[in-house]
Amino acid sequence: MVKRFHIITFGCQMNEYDSSKIANILAPVGYIRTEEIKEADLILINTCNVREKAEQKVYSLLGRLKRFKQRNPSTLIGVGGCVAQQKGESLLHRVEYLDFVFGTHAFFDLPEILAELSNGTRRACYTDLHYRFEEDRNVQPVSACGTEVKGLITIMRGCNNFCTFCVVPYVRGREVSRSAKSILCEAKELLKAGIKEITVLGQNVNSYRSPDEHLGFSELLELMNGLEGLQRIRFTTSHPKDLSPSLVSAFGKLSKLCPHIHLPLQSGSNRILKRMNRRYTREDYLNKIEDLRNVCPDISITTDLIVGFPGETEADFQETLDVLHMVKFDGAFSFKYSDRVPAKAVRFKDKISEETKSRRLRSLQAIQKDITMERNIRFERRIERVLVESRNKKNPLQLTGRIAGNQIVNFEGTEDLIGQVVPIRIEEGLLHSLRGRPALINCQGGAP
Ligand code: SAH
Ligand code: SF4
Repeated sequence: MVKRFHIITFGCQMNEYDSSKIANILAPVGYIRTEEIKEADLILINTCNVREKAEQKVYSLLGRLKRFKQRNPSTLIGVGGCVAQQKGESLLHRVEYLDFVFGTHAFFDLPEILAELSNGTRRACYTDLHYRFEEDRNVQPVSACGTEVKGLITIMRGCNNFCTFCVVPYVRGREVSRSAKSILCEAKELLKAGIKEITVLGQNVNSYRSPDEHLGFSELLELMNGLEGLQRIRFTTSHPKDLSPSLVSAFGKLSKLCPHIHLPLQSGSNRILKRMNRRYTREDYLNKIEDLRNVCPDISITTDLIVGFPGETEADFQETLDVLHMVKFDGAFSFKYSDRVPAKAVRFKDKISEETKSRRLRSLQAIQKDITMERNIRFERRIERVLVESRNKKNPLQLTGRIAGNQIVNFEGTEDLIGQVVPIRIEEGLLHSLRGRPALINCQGGAP
């Protein structure tokens, strides 16, 4: 008998990727995915605990599921991913209607876990960190439905960097790279399913080293650049300390590599960067930006920033703002520092008050808003190549897509353009997107 599962995903693109893989892992044991929670025999929640807010969202969802479980006692509820990995058994104590907990490495074991549960095992916890990429071998790639334009591929898991604010190395384990052969194989499957753009994922893609072929990250990108039918390649995230000259030059060399890099700065103060264990200085960071812009002058650069790290003074914060003005990021994700047990900074004494953190976040975001506007306005009157993704959900007359630099573009057009790269004249740069209209030129071949 066919069973249905519903999956709710929190957090990063890696979690999205894992959630899609889960659909392929469960298919052979008779589960199909449903978007309707009411018809589910199994509810899975793929969680994130990188920041306090993300973790709170998981608990509030679990709170809302209490009544659902009372009314539907036979529906199994499982919590997976980073919160599950960290909290383990204690989640089962805290949420009495939860059926099982599965950690960041356990999702490949879901068929066995479900078999155990149907054989009478009750309220179990599976949080061994045992992942090896060979386990990807029998799992079909993510997009098989043929309606998607963009695909994701995880090329490495885990992290060895131990930034003092970060929980990732604890919940995702040590770095493991996947073989280039299996990545290329998955990429080809995605291309067969109609995917035009692939984003390769890892906590620090610069540390990628294929276990069998001993290739580095830029060599992997070069191989991907040769894939027929692939139009665009993106990657995320790269750590500034490991941004190699060969990756910088890849932006000048590889025709399919999009001119966009997400390069988390975290802080512009050397004192704070040291306490964060980021292992680069503000000067190192600025030099890398200069190198990138020398190779690719119009590259879009986005970043992550943390305000209110323990011990951050007004002067340290000001140094972060200075870097914002110097670099002029196209966009920035900015966060208030939050304690993440067992990360080292939890034990740092000089914590910053919530009030100060909020004030600093507001002022940083106001400055970045103006910079993002200024950066988006630079596209006005230019013709940009847009990979069209879908209808614009907010305005069905419009289509939405992205330029190579990753900015969103909305324009009026017909559905047959979805999946194509079309030339668009940008008419207006807005804060979160660009607005344009089709330009009457041919857009085949050339840059992404
Ligand atoms: N691997 C990536 C970061 C992954 S976590 C890197 O090294 O850049 C995503 C972002 O969450 C981080 O870049 C950081 O800005 C933010 N973050 C992580 N831990 C945090 C914490 N304890 N408090 C606030 N923000 C945090
Ligand atoms: Fe966390 Fe640092 Fe690893 Fe990024 S590099 S995942 S911030 S420990």
